[in-house]
Amino acid sequence: MKLYILLSAPIIGAIEATTIKERIVLCEHCNRKELHFSNAALNLDKWNGEEMISAMGQLFISENVKVKLDTLNILFESTPFDVLVKKKSIQDQKPTPKYYRILFRNICKGQGEPWFEFINKCDACGREKWMMDTEGYRSSANPELIGKDIENPAPRKVDKASWKNEDAFLLQDGYDIPIVTQKFVDILEELGITINKKGGVWLRQTNWIE
Ligand SMILES: [Zn+2]
Repeated sequence: MKLYILLSAPIIGAIEATTIKERIVLCEHCNRKELHFSNAALNLDKWNGEEMISAMGQLFISENVKVKLDTLNILFESTPFDVLVKKKSIQDQKPTPKYYRILFRNICKGQGEPWFEFINKCDACGREKWMMDTEGYRSSANPELIGKDIENPAPRKVDKASWKNEDAFLLQDGYDIPIVTQKFVDILEELGITINKKGGVWLRQTNWIE
């Protein structure tokens, strides 16, 4: 099974200012927090039927994508966001969708280096703390902002023994760029989502450690 880093999705707006953001403490020992949203809305500058978008570092999927992902082997949480659109270019063809902020819950093991440097492991929750280094910043650059992927990016490496056929997962370094399988990518293609072109979703093939 081929694996890909899901690097970025089109940025066509922002989270509406009235959205309530709350940082929930997951572990008091290491002060690990998770951002939760309620009364949530997205304010889009334009909308042209995008099925997957990004805003303020969060990934959002349409109802169409959500229904398809429910058929894969993925544990995820989704929070509904209402959508306000300043300018709809295909408003007659499609109603404005609801989007869902998605959080992937499966975690596999991978090699932190050369993207990250290991800091420590929390005694209470077992969460590993890693710090992104220069290579990580370079290799995680958002191609959507520069219109193309970078030269010779460092791969992420996934320990195959830790993988239980999940079609989307995070690695233990706590970083929120998901890794997805070919099955996940097939669904994006079925839905007509533009891949690896400006205005689309950016994927990059990555590696297993056998
Ligand atoms: Zn902890």
